[in-house]
Amino acid sequence: MTALKAVGIVGAGTMGHGIAHVAALAGFEVWLYDVTLAAAGAGKTKIQQNLEIGVTRGKVSAADRDATLGRITCVDTLAALSGCQLVIEAIPEKLALKQELFSSLSGLCAPDTILASNTSSLSLTEIAAVATNPGRVVGLHFFNPVHLMKLLEIVRAFQTSDETLERVKAFGTAINKELIVVKDSPGFASSRLGLALGLEATRMLEEGVASAADIDRAMKLGYGHPMGPLELGDLVGLDVRLAIAEYLHAETGSPTFRPPQLLKKMVRAGKLGKKSGEGFYKY
Ligand code: NAD
Repeated sequence: MTALKAVGIVGAGTMGHGIAHVAALAGFEVWLYDVTLAAAGAGKTKIQQNLEIGVTRGKVSAADRDATLGRITCVDTLAALSGCQLVIEAIPEKLALKQELFSSLSGLCAPDTILASNTSSLSLTEIAAVATNPGRVVGLHFFNPVHLMKLLEIVRAFQTSDETLERVKAFGTAINKELIVVKDSPGFASSRLGLALGLEATRMLEEGVASAADIDRAMKLGYGHPMGPLELGDLVGLDVRLAIAEYLHAETGSPTFRPPQLLKKMVRAGKLGKKSGEGFYKY
């Protein structure tokens, strides 16, 4: 087994550039791939901006900023990731797209290269099913913004081997994250609990129990949550929240995840949260 030195990142968007940032800062060589070199480069520019803020706030030294950027190479061919010991994908949340990628990576990478997905809801077991040596497939669920959020949820697919689990735990610790290990199940631990709270808050708003601001204040001031469940929905995107609710409802059959009418109506009206200028709040 080769020591973990080089990490490939597939997709340089919101999550991919953040994962590249924390891996490079921790000393790993990072190969950042996106469909175009411009897209990969845009990811690296965001990393540079975030490192700059870190320097201004005294969290990162100028030398570490430069060394981190020096360890990130932008590429536009998947084959450039063939020498990596770990590849983490952060491409759009579509099962067919991720399966196609894992099938390609199986042919390109060494048999013991760990193949990880940052999916927030899809079945890791179904993704692993298309890979050769599926024991090396695992979920590494990061949180946004990756360079600031402490949690890394490791998702163990039905096929994930003990060795893979131990190797990604060591990687998670090396990049300074707090780890939880969850077996592959709909919504894992974080999305399942977060969604249950968000949907119940939406039903309470629909029933007129309290205003959106007061429902959020209940959780912030009464339970110490940094953000209320409705505010968080606006940040994540109500379309994203609805899609995950529909998936979890279909998978579990539990009424907890039945999408509230209010959520459906808001999405149909284009009120998607912060990104559209209006959700539970106006922006
Ligand atoms: P994003 O849209 O910001 O970025 C996706 C990137 O993937 C884009 O740069 C796009 O050009 C690239 N891409 C698309 N198809 C590709 C392909 N075939 N090969 C290589 N690159 C490709 O998406 P995101 O928000 O970063 O989400 C990525 C994944 O992370 C999803 O699975 C999502 O569910 C998960 N996730 C997102 C968040 C979040 O808060 N945004 C949190 C946790 C997990």
